[in-house]
Amino acid sequence: MYKCWACSSTVCKGEDGKIVCANCGLTYWTEHRENDYNSAYQDSTTLYNKYLLYFPKIHDQNINIFKKINPVESLAVDSLSKIKPDTHVDIGCGVGRFLRAISETGIQSAGVEKSEHLVDLLRNKGYSCAHDMTQVPNLVNVGDNVSVSLFEVIEHVTEPEKFLLEIINFFKPNYLAISVPNSLERRRFDPNFKQQDRPPNHLSRWSQKSLYSLFSNLQDYCVSVKKVPPSRKELVHALLKGNFKSVYVHLYALIWRPRYWYFCELKRK
Ligand SMILES: [Zn+2]
Repeated sequence: MYKCWACSSTVCKGEDGKIVCANCGLTYWTEHRENDYNSAYQDSTTLYNKYLLYFPKIHDQNINIFKKINPVESLAVDSLSKIKPDTHVDIGCGVGRFLRAISETGIQSAGVEKSEHLVDLLRNKGYSCAHDMTQVPNLVNVGDNVSVSLFEVIEHVTEPEKFLLEIINFFKPNYLAISVPNSLERRRFDPNFKQQDRPPNHLSRWSQKSLYSLFSNLQDYCVSVKKVPPSRKELVHALLKGNFKSVYVHLYALIWRPRYWYFCELKRK
């Protein structure tokens, strides 16, 4: 018997070590390797390579980065432009897409990324980037008004609540922006996503209820969890470049089962 990561209900392990919470809908695995971004991504070379191929495109000076960020990241840019934090920390910054966008709004920012290789690449581009969040105060003068983003991160970590508490205790952020892919819908039609949506890549799948349950333990914050669909441009791109079996299935998926993100905003009370 286990306790659900999000709502603390008692749950039982099902087939192949997967646990599904009957109360909040959270699906997760308890047996997996330590959370190590590099080793996880080495299991499927395509995942990591795809990420690295994307790096030059994101850092091309001729592009408008605000057209490259996804709808969740655009909403976070809007919120942060109003909040005007002293420092914004993007945890799991990957190739630095959001880091570049937020830097271009004039907000001081720092990235945290598990992949040493990406940390080096981002530092070469002039970004403040660290392998570990505890190094961030060595890179920037953090200040009192700190905000944090975690875009598509919590589904990769072994203990999401502990991970969030570590971040909150360390930075004491006034605002957190968190996004999680909606696995339940996307898995039905996107074989590419299905392949990534399991260990060692994704270790959990979240519902709106399970996200609220997780955040209800963070009593200092007001929480909102919204569903955010892709932009029209992304839908067209998915239609043209998708891996679905036929265009009919593809269209059906786009219309009736579109991908979307859960966008969670936590504001200090
Ligand atoms: Zn639960």
